[in-house]
Amino acid sequence: MKNNIHILLVSAAVVFSLSGCSVKKTSVEKKMPTKITVVTTLFAPFDFVREITRGTDTQVNMLLPPGAEVHSFEPTAQDMIRIQNCSLFIYAGGGGDAWADKLVASLDNKIKSMRMIDCVNLLEEEHKEGMEPDKDDSGKANAVNEKEWDEHVWVSPKNAILIVNKITETLSAIDPKNSAVYQKNAESYTAQLSELDNEFRTVISKAKRTTVIFADRFPARYFTEEFGLSYFAAFPGCSTDTEPSAATVSFIINKVKQEKIPAVFYIELSNQKMADTVCEATGAKKLLFHCCHNLSKDDFNAGATYLSVMKHNVETLKEALN
Ligand SMILES: [Zn+2]
Repeated sequence: MKNNIHILLVSAAVVFSLSGCSVKKTSVEKKMPTKITVVTTLFAPFDFVREITRGTDTQVNMLLPPGAEVHSFEPTAQDMIRIQNCSLFIYAGGGGDAWADKLVASLDNKIKSMRMIDCVNLLEEEHKEGMEPDKDDSGKANAVNEKEWDEHVWVSPKNAILIVNKITETLSAIDPKNSAVYQKNAESYTAQLSELDNEFRTVISKAKRTTVIFADRFPARYFTEEFGLSYFAAFPGCSTDTEPSAATVSFIINKVKQEKIPAVFYIELSNQKMADTVCEATGAKKLLFHCCHNLSKDDFNAGATYLSVMKHNVETLKEALN
């Protein structure tokens, strides 16, 4: 309910301010809620903010509706309004978020914004052997030398800690009265993220194998890199393409057979078609590796978190590596 009121208020403010350049905005701005509001594009930072702001009246909204697939996400006019009126806007950055960079640069009130890619050491999106070439919107393969940063930085728990610390620092500067609460929440949350990191390390150190196969997009490069795993995948990170060629399908099937891989991964909100094909041909099991772009509606309503889906990944990883 609070949400709805907030949206109504900000909509009124923007309609008013768009209706003519001569209109003075000050009278409207006074009616704006004084509450601190954070807007995120994706689920992972939404959940980080939810943890950091526990016990305060700071509000956090996610632009992606639960269940929506991020790689085909287009911001609506209402999304733009929510961004324009928030206290802090958090997005991944990188190729898929060019719209957000443009929007932030174009706003005259210069809202506070934060890109997750600016919080960590970046890796380039990799085009591995057997992977479908990355295609542009017209379906043409991008030139091999067109390097792109991989924006899925939050998928490694260590990076999640860096992002949480940066959000905490930024929010504390915007809202000093709650800064002590934010710091305290962040401390206990990053301790849990460290523990998660350790759980992955334990599984990987005891595992029979070191190779994982994603019969899907591959947004887990920061994860495999952090934990020293090797991988094969059907599509690069945020590929818009999910129709594999016969060559890609047979490459992945052969890899699964050669390496006697017991389970292949698909990612959240995927159509799972490629994983089904590979599993049918090889007898491998199909398992979810959740990369936390977004949650399904059911998971969201059931209160799933970055930590809960990652802990699920600990279990599926154990199965896929043994
Ligand atoms: Zn992605």
